[in-house]
Formats: sequence, C-alpha cells, structure tokens
Amino acid sequence: MSTATLDKDLIKGGEFLIKESDFHSIVFPEQFTEEQRMIRDSVREFIEQEIYPVTERIEKLEEGLTPSIMDKFAALGFFGTHMPEEYGGSAMDFITNSLIGEAIGPSGSFSVSYNAHTGIGMLPILYYGTEAQKKKYLPGLIDGSLKSSYCLTEPSSGSDALAAKTTAILNAEGTHYILNGQKMWITNAGFADIFTVFAQVDGNKFTGFILERNMPGLTLGAEEKKLGIKGSSTRQVFLENVMVPVENVLGEIGKGHLIAFNVLNVGRFKLGVSCLGGAKKLTEISVRYANERQQFGKPIASFGAIQHKLAEQLIRCFVTESATYRTAHLIHEHVHHSMNAGKSYAEAKLLAAEAYALECSIIKVIGSETLDFCVDEAVQIHGGMGYSEEGSVARAYRDSRINRIFEGTNEINRMLMLNTLFKAAMKGEFDLLTAAMAVQSELMNGVSQDETYNSIYTTEIKAVKDLKKALIMLLGVAGQMAMSGQLNLKEEQEVLMTLSDIIIEIFNAESTLLRVQKLRADNNPEISIYEDILRCYLHDANLRVYKNAMDAIASFVDQGMQPALISGVRKYTKYPLQNVKELRRNIAARMISENTYPL
Ligand SMILES: Cc1cc2nc3c(=O)[nH]c(=O)nc-3n(C[C@H](O)[C@H](O)[C@H](O)COP(=O)(O)OP(=O)(O)OC[C@H]3O[C@@H](n4cnc5c(N)ncnc54)[C@H](O)[C@@H]3O)c2cc1C
Repeated sequence: MSTATLDKDLIKGGEFLIKESDFHSIVFPEQFTEEQRMIRDSVREFIEQEIYPVTERIEKLEEGLTPSIMDKFAALGFFGTHMPEEYGGSAMDFITNSLIGEAIGPSGSFSVSYNAHTGIGMLPILYYGTEAQKKKYLPGLIDGSLKSSYCLTEPSSGSDALAAKTTAILNAEGTHYILNGQKMWITNAGFADIFTVFAQVDGNKFTGFILERNMPGLTLGAEEKKLGIKGSSTRQVFLENVMVPVENVLGEIGKGHLIAFNVLNVGRFKLGVSCLGGAKKLTEISVRYANERQQFGKPIASFGAIQHKLAEQLIRCFVTESATYRTAHLIHEHVHHSMNAGKSYAEAKLLAAEAYALECSIIKVIGSETLDFCVDEAVQIHGGMGYSEEGSVARAYRDSRINRIFEGTNEINRMLMLNTLFKAAMKGEFDLLTAAMAVQSELMNGVSQDETYNSIYTTEIKAVKDLKKALIMLLGVAGQMAMSGQLNLKEEQEVLMTLSDIIIEIFNAESTLLRVQKLRADNNPEISIYEDILRCYLHDANLRVYKNAMDAIASFVDQGMQPALISGVRKYTKYPLQNVKELRRNIAARMISENTYPL
C-alpha cells in the first residue's frame, strides 16, 4: 500500500495479517531512550504545573487562557517537534512525537486544542502547501504566534465529508476565489488565526484553501455547549463572500479529498495515542482510590470484583500501548526508508501515514475504546464520588466520549479497515488470494503445516497464527463471493463490523505477543506480569474472535457452506482456556502494591 522504495523486510500496511513480524527490530516502550523519556517527562511536568492548577478556568473557556498556555507550550518547542527544521521545527522522529502525544493525553480539553493545532491544523500546510505557503505560515504555527483550525464538517456533511456544500468561485479577474458556506464543530475556531477550509470549486471540485481570521466575511458562531471537553473552543465558521487569494489554494483544485483523508490518517493516530495517555492516567487514579477507599473494614482494592476491573484496565492499556508503539515504529521505519530514498521529511511522513492507514484506524478505534472502558471503570471504582463534579473522573468521563466520534467515527474507521484491505488485494499489493488458498488447502487436507516454533511461547504464537487463518478464511470467502456478485459487502456493514473487530483482535494480540517475546529475550526480570497480561488477553481475544467469526458465517454464508467454515473457525480458535481469575488477581496485586500504573 505504499509507493515509496522500501526495505524489503519492512512489513507493509495490513501485511501483519499474512506475514510474520520480527520482534527483535520493534521499538516498544521499554526501548525508549533516555532522551525520549526526558522529553516525555518535561511534557508531564508542563501539564502538572501549567494545566492542572487552572483546569476549572480552562473548562469555563476563560478568554485568552488556552491560547496563553499554548504559547508557553510553543515556547518550549512543542509545536514544532514534528516539523522540519527549515521552518523552525525540530523534526523529531515519529516515536518521540508519539510519546509527546501520549504525555499530553491526560490534559483533557487542552489535549484537544493541542492535537487540533499540531495535527489537522498544521499538517495540511506541511503536506500540501507550496513553498511560499509553508514559509508564510509554518514558522508562526510553530512558534505559537499563529493558531490553527481545520474546517471540513458542515451541518449536512459529517461522515460524508466530500458532500460539502461550501462553494468557491473564481472571480472574473482570476485573482481570488469567493467562498460561501458554513462549517460546523470547528475545534480552536474561537482563537484560530488560520482556517484550512474545504469547498467545492465550481460546485463539484472539492478543494482546500488557507483562510486567515481577518479576511472579511469570515465570522464565527457562539461556543457550542458540549457534553465534555468544555475547555476546548468549538464553533461554527460562517463564510460570506470571503475573497481568498488564488495563492491560498491548498494543493490542487479538485484534490482536496487527498488532503482531507491523508491528514486524517495521522490525526487518527495522534488521537489514539493521546487516548492511551488518558487511559493510563485513569488507571493510576483508579488504583490509588481503590487502595484508599475503605468499605466493610478493608480497602475496596482487596475485593475480587474491583481487582478484576483494575487488572482489566491495565491489560487493555498495555495491549493498546503495544499496538500503538508497534504502529509508531512501522511509520518511523517507513519515514526513514523514504527519506533515504530521497523524499523530504514532509513527503516521507505523508507516504508513511498513507501506507499504514489501516493501522492508524485501528489505533484510533482501540485508543478511544480503551479510554472509554478505563474511564467508565474509574467512575465505577469511585462509586458516588465518581459521579461528583468535585472529583476529576466525572469530567474525564464526559471528555472521553468525543473520541469515538471525531476524526472519523469508529464505525467509519472500522469500515475503512476492510475497504483498505480489499482495495490493496484488488491492486495485488496485499496477497489475500495466496494466503486464502493456503488456509483452504490446510483445511481440506486436515493437517496443519509443521508448527513447532522453538519458543517458550509456542502455544501463543500458534494461537495468533490461527486467529489470522480464521480471518483469512473468512476474507477469502467474502472476497470470492463479492467478485462473483453473490455478496455486496458495502450493503453488509454488520459483517464488515465483525470482520474489522477480528482484525483489531489479531493486531492487538500479536503486538502484545511480540512485546512479551522481546521482554523475555531481553531477560526482563518482571516477565511474569507481562505473560499474565498476554495470556489473559489471548484467552479473551480467542473467544471474541470465535463469536465474531460465527456471527459473520451465520450472516453471509449460505447454509451449504457453513459447516466447513464453522469447523475451520473451531480449529483456529483453540487457545487453551486460562484461569483468568488468577491471572487478573496477579496483575491487580502488582498494581495495588505499587499503588500506581506499574508498567
Ligand atoms: C467536539 C467536536 C469537535 C470537532 N472538531 C472538528 C474540527 O475541528 N473540524 C472538523 O471538520 N470537524 C470537527 N468535528 C466534526 C466531526 O468530525 C464529526 O462530528 C464526525 O465526523 C461525525 O459527523 P456527524 O457529526 O455529522 O455525524 P454523522 O456523519 O451524521 O454520523 C451519525 C452516526 O451515523 C454513523 N454513520 C454515518 N455514516 C455512516 C455510514 N456510511 N455507514 C454507517 N454508519 C454511518 C456514524 O458512525 C454515527 O454513528 C468535531 C465534532 C465535535 C463534536
């Protein structure tokens, strides 16, 4: 799925489903350098000192407060860590930028303002701007003197973004486009200086434009009254005969969809990684409260029901973290190879995000859903205090919910995963056919290929491989039926949802397995807790894949074919049952004794 010249060993987007990954080369959090950790710690310190003390004021949208905190963050260089040096950035690598995004995650509304500015706000100009546009805008966006926003959504077009009605008509002199329309839900609109706006040139050529705050005809609606992230500015943007110089066309006329979608790929990753930071923080808050709160004469952390919740929070965070940094590593390597092949920093990053669009969608979905899970359990662990506005978890509960909605809803992202895979298969970039035939032949012959892995994790390695085979079997049948006209997958969204959930389980399970293999290879002294997490997750993932696969078979396969596929799914979901109660108790014990997020 990539056009860059790549090292043959670098696994391409989606290829994790049909190829082996080598754990030795992947950078997981345990391999972060001292410098990376220091950068992360300085972001955490900034949040502690500059954001937490004024959270209430941020939440009330105090005039000028968020922009002034953004200025301080920019002054420390944090708006330019993902920008080229020639415009004032520090061009840090993708993994370090991910770490920064994770560290900013727990800051709630501020993280939304930060992500919108540094992601969907700045990246369109970096990726698609002309040299003149980059020189004009990027230095200010990096030093914080300019703040940015991204105006795609309209009242009648959200998920169906390309159906935007905003118009752009070239004036008679050919010097300006005249923009008319209305944008909705625009993050940072209240204080942004730069607005990337999408409009239809001549009614049907979807195109990006760079607008400035002081352009006559650009006005703002009132602040939206939202469920959460109340401290982030969200307004409508009205455009009435706004004269935009032709020099401010972003990218090519009619090619705005490339900007919108490619910027969203990175935006999705950034959102996922920042959710991960929030989820880990809430897990830490949960264990502290569970240790402190006494009921029936003991801390509530001593109860099995609470230990289950704590352990599950940690498991989901660890799994999400493993998948997230595996993706960060893939993107990082892709950027590196593209730059070696002569691409610029910006081009290389764009190509990488495009190449791993599927993985970016996974990270968006799992990050937001892990955060929702952790915050929900945090509220439950806090009991009545969780429901009180006096504590911080009630706010986090409201803040979390948006993440499943923006940057492409989780439904849209789930469908994108399958679309990306099938498109790549049609183009011959993802060899689904060969993989499906191998699984079919294995099933028909009734024997498995030789599967001795010479590893202490043989059972787990086989389990993950088997889950892949179950999926490939289903994708192969769905693909064949689609090609012969028996199945219109676009109309079978329920099936797409179950298949995308299987893809997610596989990526999560394998990422966790690879990380645990690496931890063992590195003689990590605390390997047992990591192994407990792996086994507990695999136990659950195996059962969830079984259920999803059976749902899919029952939904799109005719009865004659069902028995063969059902027996295939049974064969490929045989990971032995684990004593998940004991595993979770072990995990919780570690959390409780350290009174924090322990990994
Ligand atoms: C606080 C906030 C900040 C935002 N910031 C920005 C911003 O800075 N810039 C910007 O441009 N936008 C922004 N948005 C808009 C956001 O991206 C959209 O809300 C989102 O894309 C969903 O669009 P929608 O609200 O129109 O929902 P709809 O598209 O109407 O979706 C409603 C429901 O239908 C489902 N659905 C829609 N289409 C399909 C389909 N084909 N198949 C199956 N299900 C479908 C969705 O998954 C969802 O569950 C923001 C929104 C909010 C709430």
